[in-house]
Amino acid sequence: MRHAAVGGRASCPSGGPRRLGLVSAVPVAAVETLEAYGAATAACTRCRLAQGRTQVVFGAGNPCADLLFVGEAPGFHEDKQGVPFVGQAGKLLERLLAGVELRREDVYIANVLKCRPPGNRDPQPDEIEACEPHLFRQIELIEPKVIATLGNFATKLLSGRPLGITRVHGQEQALTIAGRSVLLYPLYHPAAALYTPAMLKVLEADFARLPELMGRGLQPVPAAAPPEPEPEIAAPAEQLGLFG
Ligand code: URA
Repeated sequence: MRHAAVGGRASCPSGGPRRLGLVSAVPVAAVETLEAYGAATAACTRCRLAQGRTQVVFGAGNPCADLLFVGEAPGFHEDKQGVPFVGQAGKLLERLLAGVELRREDVYIANVLKCRPPGNRDPQPDEIEACEPHLFRQIELIEPKVIATLGNFATKLLSGRPLGITRVHGQEQALTIAGRSVLLYPLYHPAAALYTPAMLKVLEADFARLPELMGRGLQPVPAAAPPEPEPEIAAPAEQLGLFG
């Protein structure tokens, strides 16, 4: 497995070491880093996807990032290389990042599922449930200010709401996730936008707000007005699992 994570907030400039488990009279050195957690997941067998994977794709990027992207699941290339978003969707993600003067190394990129579903099929509910402790632990260790969810699966999991990405994209929401205050910011999945120019325009416009949201930090955010029904953007049938 190759993941660029080194440390975790325990070794980030602004984050002091955090102790896990019970606090004793003697300082406990049980500081877990993102890197150590990633190494521990490499042999994960929590779900059936362990049988078909080449490797666990834990995540990559800056373990101290203020901005965490959460996609769906590794595809063919990610499974082979052990790094998320290295295929066509990854190229688009890098282009969108460059548009807001960010590079992959400035953010952290992870997925709901850490192992490739066969044939890139949709994640199954029991696979999401089995894998979610890994994502929640990543959030605890990275301590991002903003979590940008890419597509339906990440958005529904982290918002805890069944609303699809077509309804909620571009609408930030202040939430507590894994015990941390974060701004959740749902975005269309780049893989869906690759084939749908209208969706790409919307994704670019939503992306352009990221610097503002990151600058806003963790101020309380006024509750979002109920989303207006939005015209559906037609997309190729094979992409339908990515939004809706
Ligand atoms: N690559 C990933 O790593 N995740 C996705 O969701 C899609 C492509």
